[in-house]
Amino acid sequence: MLNDIFNNIAKCRYCDRSFCFDVTENKSSRRGLASSISATCKYCGSSHGSMTSNSVPAGYEVNLRFVYGMRCIGIGKSAAQTFCALMNLPPPPAKFERLYTPIFNALETASSRSMMNSKIWVKADVEKEERAPF
Ligand SMILES: [Zn+2]
Repeated sequence: MLNDIFNNIAKCRYCDRSFCFDVTENKSSRRGLASSISATCKYCGSSHGSMTSNSVPAGYEVNLRFVYGMRCIGIGKSAAQTFCALMNLPPPPAKFERLYTPIFNALETASSRSMMNSKIWVKADVEKEERAPF
């Protein structure tokens, strides 16, 4: 599918040819749901690769979001493995449970910020009410 997209919209920047790319996944570089893909020009051999997800301090964003999503609907690693198999996705991150801590930390930070913002808004509303009660 990616082969078709690349070949229909892109030209090789080195040899200026069209319909020249072989798009492949390097399965040994998979990290959970993040894959490594590369496009190689059949004519000049130039190649460019990239992971399919942004890297974040805890790993790859797609894995963090996947684990968070699974946890939000009450699903753990075993059910996530079944889900990925049935959806024909790569297996979920092997270190599924290790992503709980960074997710918890991010949620804690977000909830603290939200509470601080609420506190500021309530304080501003109270002060406004005190200045002009009606
Ligand atoms: Zn080329």
